Amino acid sequence: MAIDVLSRAPRSHAPGPDGLWRNWSGSVTCRPTAFVEPSDADDVARHVGQAVADGRGVRVVGGGHSFTPLVATDGVLLGLDRLAFVDEPVPLAVPEGRATHTVRVGAGLRLHDLNLALTRLGLAMGNLGDIDHQSVAGAISTGTHGTGGVAAGLSTQVRGVELVLADGTRVTASQTERPELFESARLGLGTLGVLTAVTLAVEPAYVLEAVEEPWPLDRVLDGLEDLLAANEHVEFYWFPHTRRALTKRNNRRPVSDTPLGRVRGLVDDELLSNGLFEVVNRVGRLAPRAIPRLNAVSARALGARRFTAPSHEVYVSPRRVRFRESEWAVPHEVLLPVLAEIDAWIESSGETVSFPMEVRFAAPDDVWLSTAHGRRTAYVAVHQFWRTDPTRLFAAVQRIMVAHGGRPHWGKEHAAGIEHLRSVYPRLGDFLDVRAGVDPDGVFLNAHVRQVLGL
Ligand SMILES: Cc1cc2nc3c(=O)[nH]c(=O)nc-3n(C[C@H](O)[C@H](O)[C@H](O)COP(=O)(O)OP(=O)(O)OC[C@H]3O[C@@H](n4cnc5c(N)ncnc54)[C@H](O)[C@@H]3O)c2cc1C
Repeated sequence: MAIDVLSRAPRSHAPGPDGLWRNWSGSVTCRPTAFVEPSDADDVARHVGQAVADGRGVRVVGGGHSFTPLVATDGVLLGLDRLAFVDEPVPLAVPEGRATHTVRVGAGLRLHDLNLALTRLGLAMGNLGDIDHQSVAGAISTGTHGTGGVAAGLSTQVRGVELVLADGTRVTASQTERPELFESARLGLGTLGVLTAVTLAVEPAYVLEAVEEPWPLDRVLDGLEDLLAANEHVEFYWFPHTRRALTKRNNRRPVSDTPLGRVRGLVDDELLSNGLFEVVNRVGRLAPRAIPRLNAVSARALGARRFTAPSHEVYVSPRRVRFRESEWAVPHEVLLPVLAEIDAWIESSGETVSFPMEVRFAAPDDVWLSTAHGRRTAYVAVHQFWRTDPTRLFAAVQRIMVAHGGRPHWGKEHAAGIEHLRSVYPRLGDFLDVRAGVDPDGVFLNAHVRQVLGL
């Protein structure tokens, strides 16, 4: 039985009145032949069948928050906002780690609405990224992750998927039913079929205590292993052109801990992510040589803060300043040389970078196309203001990452070739075999995934 879902997440995925579809950052546009919003899984199957009969490709859009042209199509674009249900949770016979229940949800459900629904059920996701505008299917399809010494990727929380395949059939897959399809579809770049429902493992609701402090970068790097050992979720933002960082540590507290307000925090959220930061970026764009000084001011302006709140409120922050981003996952042990090489390149190239670099962490997981597959992982994300051309910075970072065995985030800008991807993803060949088996005619491919996957 489905429960009511509050729906306050922004709807940003439909093409505009001019017929042009745009992603969140504005860097990707396309003009689909048709945009349709099916009412249920049978309706999805009907639209897929019609597109195949008309000789058109099909792509699905979630929240449109990927930076890469994953969604772009000149065929049929499906929006799944109407597939946004949440079923009654089912208790697990045996708890899996902290997870006590599974919950089946519509693939188009936005994370924001998922979090509200879970809260009302006394449940929560075990980890989340730093925004909640994505759909469940969109988030898992690109390997969206948070940070933590435990599994950080949302795909690791998937226990079952329901799909419409290219031949119009509706199938379900899990670790015990069509396990190879399951492994591929829980992080599949939208290339296997249309996800209509996803079953997630969830935990009892919990609160997190967040501690955020500006630290000298060298203190962070010298004490990194201790920091990671002592805290469940660690990340830091390093301000390029400075030796300063903002550290964030989130740890679980008993639910009885009274949540402390975030008023103080709003000041810092607005500085790092939003209003004031927009001004910093606009000034930096007009006067790039001022960026190192602006970064030094921003890094010092951030104050220490500590607060306790329901988990999803701590994981998620507003991101109102638009930017472009490239993020790479590297073996944990090469993080320090990677950061040193990026720093050296920035200083010697004359490139100015006004956005802090974000560093996060994950334990190894077993999802075939996960950026953390089989290895302890550090993530390094570089950003540029959306009006600033990031080409040179992203290309330089990619060179460094590729040399260190880096894996690009599938939803963030990169130009990794298939040779490199095959060398860093041991199960990529298996994924491609499963994909070809369920979609031999490439109904669910677009130009971007053909190029990335060498198809
Ligand atoms: C401001 C911002 C902050 C971000 N923060 C993080 C973060 O903290 N961590 C992180 O890892 N990433 C982050 N991202 C990246 C983001 O999580 C991913 O790009 C994610 O895929 C976006 O989800 P979406 O619903 O917008 O998907 P879209 O971009 O709309 O689609 C992504 C892919 O999923 C496919 N897809 C969508 N729905 C379906 C479906 N029903 N069936 C089959 N395929 C489907 C699409 O075809 C496409 O290939 C961030 C992005 C932005 C813009």
